Amino acid sequence: MKTLMLNVNEIEKAAEIIRQGGLVAMPTETVYGLAADAYNGRAVANIFRAKGRPMDNPLIVHISELSQIYGLVREFPEKARILADKFWPGPLTMILPKSARIPDEVSAGLDTVAVRCPSDVNARKLISLSSPLAAPSANLSGSPSPTSARHVFNDMNGRIDAIIDGGECDVGVESTVITLATDPPRLLRPGGITLEQLREAIGEVVLDDAVLNPLKSGEKAASPGMKYKHYAPKAELVLLRGSEESFLGFVNSRKDGRTAVLCYDEDMPYLELPFIPLGRAADYEVQASRLFSALREADDKGFERVYAHCPHTDGVGLAVYNRMIRAAGFKVIDL
Ligand code: AMP
Ligand code: MG
Repeated sequence: MKTLMLNVNEIEKAAEIIRQGGLVAMPTETVYGLAADAYNGRAVANIFRAKGRPMDNPLIVHISELSQIYGLVREFPEKARILADKFWPGPLTMILPKSARIPDEVSAGLDTVAVRCPSDVNARKLISLSSPLAAPSANLSGSPSPTSARHVFNDMNGRIDAIIDGGECDVGVESTVITLATDPPRLLRPGGITLEQLREAIGEVVLDDAVLNPLKSGEKAASPGMKYKHYAPKAELVLLRGSEESFLGFVNSRKDGRTAVLCYDEDMPYLELPFIPLGRAADYEVQASRLFSALREADDKGFERVYAHCPHTDGVGLAVYNRMIRAAGFKVIDL
């Protein structure tokens, strides 16, 4: 199949592809999504094929205005209303009891559906010209999520109908996922909307164990996506926990031409081996926005091993930590 590259003035063409049951990669403020009509089970099944995604990992349905939620969910509780008022459009996904109209392919057979209203104007335009869109990240399953049209092209050329080039994504990590199908609500995946912001808005929110830790063998994931290998570059990523001095000492003793460092901007003058800067140490938002493209860059340059600081877990740092610890397969060295 030939994959069309579309610009943001060609969204009507993309909407027509969606209406015909095709697959379109669309920019959002988090990462690029691979979209199909959420009410077309056959089109949605093709998303799983194109990505190589396990069929038991459900998708997020993207809406362009709040009124569309009533076709998707059975209940819209008060806490969901508060979160929608405060954080939509934006990088927050809510899990709610699903309506009978949702095809099983979208919810992977669960009784719930994940819904989000993105803030990206082009994504919302595509939705309003077609339908609510089921869309996971537009990468091959397992690899880092795409934050530019080029990343999508590299993974998906020949596998999908079209890619809308909307430039680079702002947030750079996938949406925060909270389930409101349990009481108290539970944070399943951290993202651009922080745990602190959620608690301020609706009170108690439980941090799911799988955000920080690997699933124990036999344990059932609250969010099926958490049991899979994720975000992994081809290079081996190892996180280092310790002082700035011990970090620099450790990495500078590993100059072998095959190793690189994902560093903070402050480290740059002191590094004696190749590096890819992620932003300033205290700037978690910038680190989030650069992380996936930095992992892809390390692979493009052929590095075999990459060391990085182990991130902090407050604010958006929790999202950076969650992605990096999985990209590293939980390999952390305490210096
Ligand atoms: P992606 O779109 O690739 O960022 O993945 C969507 C994430 O949301 C995955 O981790 C899914 O497992 C999770 N998810 C989607 N729908 C549900 C649901 N109904 N219940 C729990 N987790 C969900
Ligand atoms: Mg994904």
